[in-house]
Amino acid sequence: MNTAILGFSYLIKLSRMTDADPSATSPDQSIAEAVAGGLPAAVADLGDLVRIPSVSWPAFDPAFVAQSADAVAELLRGTGVFDSVEVKRAQKAGFPEGELGHPAVLATRAARGGKPTVLLYAHHDVQPPGDEAGWQTKPFEPTVVGDRLYGRGAADDKAGVVSHVAAIRALAEAVAGAGSELELGLAVFIEGEEEHGSHSFVNFLEDNRDALAADVIIVADSDNWDTETPNLTVALRGACAFNLTVSTLGHASHSGMWGGAAPDAMLATIKLLSTLWDENGSVAVPGLASHDAGTPDFDEAELRASAALIDGVSPIGTGSVLSRLWFQPSITVTGIDAPSIANASNTLSPQVTVRLSMRVAPGQTSDDARDALVAHLRANAPFGARLEFHDFEGGDPFLVDTRGWAVAAAKQAMADAWGTAPVEAGIGGSIPFIADLVRVFPEAQILVTGVEDPDTRAHSPNESLHLGVFKRAILSEALLLGRLNAG
Ligand SMILES: [Zn+2]
Repeated sequence: MNTAILGFSYLIKLSRMTDADPSATSPDQSIAEAVAGGLPAAVADLGDLVRIPSVSWPAFDPAFVAQSADAVAELLRGTGVFDSVEVKRAQKAGFPEGELGHPAVLATRAARGGKPTVLLYAHHDVQPPGDEAGWQTKPFEPTVVGDRLYGRGAADDKAGVVSHVAAIRALAEAVAGAGSELELGLAVFIEGEEEHGSHSFVNFLEDNRDALAADVIIVADSDNWDTETPNLTVALRGACAFNLTVSTLGHASHSGMWGGAAPDAMLATIKLLSTLWDENGSVAVPGLASHDAGTPDFDEAELRASAALIDGVSPIGTGSVLSRLWFQPSITVTGIDAPSIANASNTLSPQVTVRLSMRVAPGQTSDDARDALVAHLRANAPFGARLEFHDFEGGDPFLVDTRGWAVAAAKQAMADAWGTAPVEAGIGGSIPFIADLVRVFPEAQILVTGVEDPDTRAHSPNESLHLGVFKRAILSEALLLGRLNAG
């Protein structure tokens, strides 16, 4: 392993400089030392979890997800701080009675001495490996190359799981070393099906409402600005997707006989879809909201490189690049069922189905955005084409109230652990379960952190974790927990 990841000197120097007595060990310094000392074990534990192919998709063996849940429960028991550690399942919402979600892990310890309770969330299931030929290392064989640990789930989100475990271990060690007591309440919820729809998530929250109740919720499943700069994720777009079937004819007909007088469904679909965007490529659907907030600089060259725009192609949208990604809606046609070119006989298509995927700006519900889009499509159906809508999916956006004390404390802990202040970042993608957490626990302050960085490639071949980011993420969380325990 590259020793560059073990650079704790910043924090240790910082605490030495600010201590009145230069020989005394500050609580922060003890935690930094415990995190540093525990890092090799954390990397080894993470490697053991990566070896379990806990893919939560239906075509994969669920026994591995169960094995992974048991392994996570063992890690949590090993911290020695919990009153209870259980592997539990809940009924999947909208599924037949008795169909349970994948096993999750729930660990709790009650707060003492009036201290707050913190709920730590991550997920232990992973995406399928995808095309194994695309991997340079084996997906379920953790492999360190340079500063990075490769493997499916090495970042998303088994590193989130282990960052919680390692932060708790460091906290317990530092508290014991100082001869004081751990009074902070903790709940840990490690989900087993985040990568496949979180179908039992809401029921799990309801079933375990008392055990999960907390003053602060830390969701470690997001990313960082870069490997040297942390993010506190404060905005996430919502999502809404559905299939649209456009019908114009009762059956297919010869395009020479009837083309030019009978409207085919492809023509109607193309004309209809073209009303969704203006000439800049911005969404042009009335009733879709945008969120108004400033964004950090992100130049066009970076966008071109990251999204691989080919030469001569211009970006779409208006406003700052990040406002387009974080705070404005977008609509993408992600699939189309129509005759393939191999079957392109000279006929007028009677029916075309498209999958529409929309990102919803913070401040609008997914249902509201869906209604606006459906109304727009109905109002613009050309030639009286018949429209049918089906296979809806959705999840609400999320916006953090950044005025809470927990946000301030988290930002300070990140600044101290990384040596640089965090970016308050938005995410163009969606984590729908966060809106569920806010709904079930409206009093809790939510902090969305993470272990990913721009090179992580979560969900793709060659997923990897930057080990320096891992260390700093553990340290940030351990410092925050330590200060809440002491405060
Ligand atoms: Zn994840």
